[in-house]
Amino acid sequence: MPMPTCCRTILARGPSAEVARCSCGHIHLSIGPVTIRLDEDSLHAAWHTVGDALRALSEGARRAPAPEVQNGEWKQ
Ligand SMILES: [Zn+2]
Repeated sequence: MPMPTCCRTILARGPSAEVARCSCGHIHLSIGPVTIRLDEDSLHAAWHTVGDALRALSEGARRAPAPEVQNGEWKQ
């Protein structure tokens, strides 16, 4: 029996990343040659993490970076 075919709809596209919603329910986040498959909650979590990183980067221009986080949990 053939696998059901996924159908992706582009949600957003930028110079370095693309986000598509798949008919199987996942969100596909593509950065360069890498595509990460996430659920919507994980995409939200990743978005917040990226925001935190950008904030840390802009603050890091003025002061030392925050100490490294040891318990990085990755939710699939
Ligand atoms: Zn799919």
